[in-house]
Amino acid sequence: MSVNATSERAAARVDDLVRQLRARGHRLTPQRLAVLRTLAESIDHPSAEQVYERLRPQYPMMSPATVYKTIDTLKGMGQILELEFREGANRYDLNIPEPHPHAICTSCGRLVDVDIPELNDLAERTAGATGFQLVRHRLDFYGVCPDCLRTRNTERGTRRTRNQLREAL
Ligand SMILES: [Zn+2]
Ligand SMILES: [Zn+2]
Repeated sequence: MSVNATSERAAARVDDLVRQLRARGHRLTPQRLAVLRTLAESIDHPSAEQVYERLRPQYPMMSPATVYKTIDTLKGMGQILELEFREGANRYDLNIPEPHPHAICTSCGRLVDVDIPELNDLAERTAGATGFQLVRHRLDFYGVCPDCLRTRNTERGTRRTRNQLREAL
């Protein structure tokens, strides 16, 4: 997706959420609006802490509680997907609040959406196969991301060259 398409989509998502929040009688401070915007513009599934850090330069008076409270409200409305991890902070997806597959890098923590059409109907097929009425599901693929793989290979390459040099001496 182009940068423009991403920011247009983010703006539309924020507008929609603002409407929903107002309809529920929530007061929207500039800080809360900024939290919404940051979440909508982030495609990297940030933690609450990361959202706070991204906003701090522009809103030095904002408290982390504002981020947590906004996320809680969105959770209550079913408008944000929360991904819990035993080790490490929860991560959030405001753009696709429905459960969907993710790939997670065990080396740097990068978390990306897996856009494979064949995986989309997995929940319906599971419900069909088990007779369960599904409430939620989670599908995570763990591995090493392309950036970390490249770094690893480079490091390995450097080590090899060093060994070859040592042997040559
Ligand atoms: Zn990585
Ligand atoms: Zn996601």
